[in-house]
Amino acid sequence: MKTYIGIDLGGTNVAAGLVSEKGELLGVHSQPTPRGAEEVADAIAQAARAACAAAGVGAEEPRSVGVASPGSIDPARGVVEHAFNLGLDHVPLMGMVSERLGLPALLENDANAAALGEFVSGAGKGYDSLVAVTLGTGVGSGAVLGGKLFTGFNYAGMEAGHMVIRRGGRPCTCGRRGCWETYASATGLIKSTREAMEAHPDSALWRFAPTLEQVNGKTVFDAAAVFDPPARQVIESYLDDLACGVANLVNILQPQVLCIGGGISRQGEKLLAPIRAYLDKEEFTRDGERRTKICVAQLGNDAGIIGAALVPLYR
Ligand SMILES: [Zn+2]
Repeated sequence: MKTYIGIDLGGTNVAAGLVSEKGELLGVHSQPTPRGAEEVADAIAQAARAACAAAGVGAEEPRSVGVASPGSIDPARGVVEHAFNLGLDHVPLMGMVSERLGLPALLENDANAAALGEFVSGAGKGYDSLVAVTLGTGVGSGAVLGGKLFTGFNYAGMEAGHMVIRRGGRPCTCGRRGCWETYASATGLIKSTREAMEAHPDSALWRFAPTLEQVNGKTVFDAAAVFDPPARQVIESYLDDLACGVANLVNILQPQVLCIGGGISRQGEKLLAPIRAYLDKEEFTRDGERRTKICVAQLGNDAGIIGAALVPLYR
């Protein structure tokens, strides 16, 4: 059996897994992410060896090691250009990891790796195309089309979080205004919740978050469950913005499956049903027989590990 090591390099943990070519997770290991380039490369190598040991496989046996990294990366040169929360700035991580493990190494964007993981072993299993959207600090997105990971010619494609859905809207970290992620990310939802609280001092939102600092992605759903009008308004507007971006992606790519992950996706049908209703009104192929399946992502954090491991098979 051919095996591959996948690494999900996160701000908190380095998660490693030994993965079969079919996308099965054979052994895993997770350890805290240190700060600094040499330290991160060391931790990746340690976690990779531990994942192999957990699977009872020698660390020289896997074909390659794939690293899913946040921030801005150059997979062709194997360089993490900026991942400031990891303290990485122009680090040739691919070479450093390859040297430590004696294996070929690859680097991939974390959202692309998550999409590939879901395609192989999760929501997209058995399908030919999938778009994965992750609602977190930003909106991550990746696509597998015709069985291949789509990255654009320069590996910078599928930054769907930075498509504008409201021209002149909220300023975004990318320099534009009104980007999808400024509204549809968990950060965007928290911002909208705080705005509603400041505008409505008598809202039930204050019961679920006594201070603005205590607001999280769940606060507004809790308040809406007790029929708080401002909370319901925030959710309605949030779902409209989320669904607008989903409809744009479906219209452009028409994937067989579009899955939504991240903490907010735990709301399940509360999230999916309004998106489907929006698509029934606005999707270009709404009257067609073959339409994109909208569902939640299945693998959670494992998606990044599995995807990173199998990048060499799907690039
Ligand atoms: Zn943007």
